[in-house]
Amino acid sequence: MLQTRIIPPAENAHDTPLLLKRLLLSGIRYEKTREIVYRDLVRYSYATFNERVARLANVLSEAGVKAGDTVAVMDWDSHRYLECMFAIPMIGAVLHTINIRLSAEQILYTMNHADDKFVLVNSEFVPLYKSIEAQLTTVEKTLLLTDEAEKTADLGNLVGEYENLLAAASPRYDFPDFDENSVATTFYTTGTTGNPKGVYFTHRQLVLHTLAEASVLGSLDSVRLLGTNDVYMPITPMFHVHAWGIPYAATMLGLKQVYPGRYDPELLVQLWQKEKVTFSHCVPTILQMVLNAKAGQGLDFGGWKIIIGGSALNRSLYQAAKARGIQLTAAYGMSETCPLISCAHINEELLAGSEDERITYRIKAGVPVPLVEAAIMSADGKLLPADGETQGELVLRAPWLTMGYFREPQKGAELWEHGWLHTGDVATLDDFGFIDIRDRIKDVIKTGGEWLSSLELEDLISRHPAVREVAVVGIPDPQWGERPFSLLVLHDGQVLDAKGLKEHLKPFVEQGHINKWAIPSQIAVVTDIPKTSVGKLDKKRIRTDIAQWQAAGSAFLSTL
Ligand code: AMP
Repeated sequence: MLQTRIIPPAENAHDTPLLLKRLLLSGIRYEKTREIVYRDLVRYSYATFNERVARLANVLSEAGVKAGDTVAVMDWDSHRYLECMFAIPMIGAVLHTINIRLSAEQILYTMNHADDKFVLVNSEFVPLYKSIEAQLTTVEKTLLLTDEAEKTADLGNLVGEYENLLAAASPRYDFPDFDENSVATTFYTTGTTGNPKGVYFTHRQLVLHTLAEASVLGSLDSVRLLGTNDVYMPITPMFHVHAWGIPYAATMLGLKQVYPGRYDPELLVQLWQKEKVTFSHCVPTILQMVLNAKAGQGLDFGGWKIIIGGSALNRSLYQAAKARGIQLTAAYGMSETCPLISCAHINEELLAGSEDERITYRIKAGVPVPLVEAAIMSADGKLLPADGETQGELVLRAPWLTMGYFREPQKGAELWEHGWLHTGDVATLDDFGFIDIRDRIKDVIKTGGEWLSSLELEDLISRHPAVREVAVVGIPDPQWGERPFSLLVLHDGQVLDAKGLKEHLKPFVEQGHINKWAIPSQIAVVTDIPKTSVGKLDKKRIRTDIAQWQAAGSAFLSTL
């Protein structure tokens, strides 16, 4: 240990812990009257918001929730969820954001595993909750969230309905200080293999993440992505990595916030228009749905800045959004990382270059944000050169990464092998500091002794004008080990077969972007590509579907 100088604090000096309550208190200082909006149903000021957080804290405390307890929420994106994101951790309890898109069996697993004591259930999920209620081992009480006139439901040990309870509660609560290393939130990974794993984040981690996120989005890059005059609407679920932590940043800055409830692309477009939304974030598939929404046809989305993450952003989607006035910026992160790790930054050198080159960089995973260290590691734990060429597993260090998996010490140790968090992503790091994600390790296609990036091939195929959506996976091949297989959704009225796709890809082979084995010898044209609970391509399901189609000689298939 270095012998650095540590000066003991003066007597009476206050050591301020980094707690979420401090983020809440700053937003109202800036903008007391600014609005928080829920669909076309509710709007209120920051002053009311702060009072409601205090009321909720009183309701929960009176219902018996104590510091250290886990309180779970089953809801779509709402003002009530935002209130839970503050009130629950601020009384020292842990907020479990339930992924309501998992199967009932997996939800049951996560709720028992997380030790949920108290559950807030949106009336839409009452049937789902009822289907697992008898097998819940730790839940003591429930509370109903609803937009309906009917303010009760058949839930075991129901304390009451949210709005009624809030109305009757005191609008003051003296939120205590406590250790900033207390766990504030937990949720489960959406992995498609095995049981979901619990990640968890402390107040200190969330506060540092919020400060870094706000400073990056507010000051880096040629265009300020998030400032106090922006109007924020999330389009990634609050149950998944706290909607990327942006509700915390938006609240800290006192931004107008718009919560859209269950995602309906038509309503999203209407809310965008009516509330004058300027900043959102989503995964590529949701953006595609918004672009396709009927309500948006013929509309110029000018002034809408959207962060795209969660999956690779391809050039075609970037350009399609740009043609409609939307400015996209790619970012990278994962459940284990709170999530922000990197965000595209177009520095002076790139600004001076061509538009084409700038797009190439805008759609990469971006440059690690302040306080994040990123490196590339070989399978035997050696750090590899950041030369833009050498591929290896992306590994990370930052103050806001989950320190393990809840109650799974062995898996936690594997996550942190060699003292770095392992992402499971193959990447390169280049001279500009950019991370380029080549693939998930398990999705890389190993064909004829070469490694082929399914993401790269998806990007090249997406440039075909007939292609609306694409997924590429490796399928077993007796001769080559694996061969790429492509699943396509085409624009209305378009046709494309395996031969047409080959013609499209040939120039990329000739220019050396891909080798000739990268051309799929078989494709399937479908109307829908399977997605995971958070809207990403579900490659495990896709592989199973393909095997079934091949066994049945399905008519979807087109072969060279
Ligand atoms: P999840 O934990 O479900 O949020 O998934 C995290 C994974 O999504 C990462 O490990 C990546 O494989 C993928 N991902 C997230 N952002 C990007 C990005 N910008 N480009 C490519 N893949 C991404």
